[in-house]
Amino acid sequence: MFGRLPPHTMRLLLASFLCAASSLSAQSAPPPLLLVPDRVLDGTGAPAQANLAVLVDSGRIIVVAPRGSIRLPAGTRVLELPGTTLLPGLIDLHSHVLLHPYNEVPWEDQVLREGLGERTARATVHLARTLDAGFTTLRDLGTEGAASADVGLRAALEKGVIRGPRLVVAEQAIVMRGSYAPRGFAPEHRIPIAAEEAGNLPELVAAVRGQIARGADLIKVYADYRWGPDGSAQPAFTVEELRAAVEIANSSGRPLVAHASSAEGMRRAALAGVQTIEHGDGGTAEVFALMRERNVTLVPTVAAGHAIAQYGGWRPGNGPEPTRVRAKRASVQLALEAGVQLANGSDVGVFAHGDNVRELELLVDYGLTPMQAIVAATTTAGRVLQRPADLGAVRVGAPADLLIVRGDPSADIRALRAVHTVIQRGTVVRAP
Ligand SMILES: [Zn+2]
Repeated sequence: MFGRLPPHTMRLLLASFLCAASSLSAQSAPPPLLLVPDRVLDGTGAPAQANLAVLVDSGRIIVVAPRGSIRLPAGTRVLELPGTTLLPGLIDLHSHVLLHPYNEVPWEDQVLREGLGERTARATVHLARTLDAGFTTLRDLGTEGAASADVGLRAALEKGVIRGPRLVVAEQAIVMRGSYAPRGFAPEHRIPIAAEEAGNLPELVAAVRGQIARGADLIKVYADYRWGPDGSAQPAFTVEELRAAVEIANSSGRPLVAHASSAEGMRRAALAGVQTIEHGDGGTAEVFALMRERNVTLVPTVAAGHAIAQYGGWRPGNGPEPTRVRAKRASVQLALEAGVQLANGSDVGVFAHGDNVRELELLVDYGLTPMQAIVAATTTAGRVLQRPADLGAVRVGAPADLLIVRGDPSADIRALRAVHTVIQRGTVVRAP
């Protein structure tokens, strides 16, 4: 159409088009925001600081300084936030947005009876609840039979179609053939597996490469699973197999993370060079020492077992803790004593989305200080994700994903539940 117009008309049209485009972007870009809380927690573990204000613009933190010293750009919106603490938006490194609590529908029935459409629709609701709870980034560790739906959800979030945290996805978990599936069916039936199976090294290599092709940000492998003759967790892959999977994932710029709850599964995963070990229930002092030596981060997921024990009839504070819960408490202590880096990841999906903070409350109950728990969910988790730089910190240049809560969570972790305002990429996405 433009080709048939005289050059002068063409130039005018182009100029008016560019004008319209720039006024459109001026309308859609949020104004700079000055946030004035009572105190700032920067996520590094440094004590909360009073009298600081935070200026954000174009999705980033541009100044952190005493309020009086900040020159405000024209059009800055000032948010007075008395009684509050500002901290980095929280990060949960172990979620399943395509699952919902097992006391609503058992896992087997979710993966076998709820279709991809229903599961994806549920996930959009889960994501919005998560953001409203102050979690601005999730690492989602496996769709559990929902194919590549996480890749699609990530695209819908990035395009602003749905509300939710920044999403880093693993697509399907990779499991050893025969180790992982809905249980209780006659052996002659073929049951959907709810993960991607690999039975040998070539299949494992193909699975990793296929997931990369389909859009996974990272690779998740089950280093062990409850497939022992007595139902105990036993190693699934050999160290050599895990090492090959790590090498392929890393060569593409992606980390590989391992589910492991047995000491031997954890040991093999650590030797193979995985980035994080998920769960780690059976970790011994030796295995935790190896993790520390190899810089493998532990994502303890204490809330999952705690929730499952309750689905089995236990009420916290009512009667002795179940063996599994007591053992988890002891293993977190052992990991702390060994100096293993702990990062926050809850296995949410086992319990309700939007209740992610439960993990942090339990970590404090199990021996972390509130500040250590906050660091695990901010700068430590941000370092695990690597991108974008400075994710999980209140620092000049960091992404302006911020949480403002009433009270002081470094004194009482439960203050994280008193969400006041959530800011994502410099925009208020939840107002008081
Ligand atoms: Zn999980």
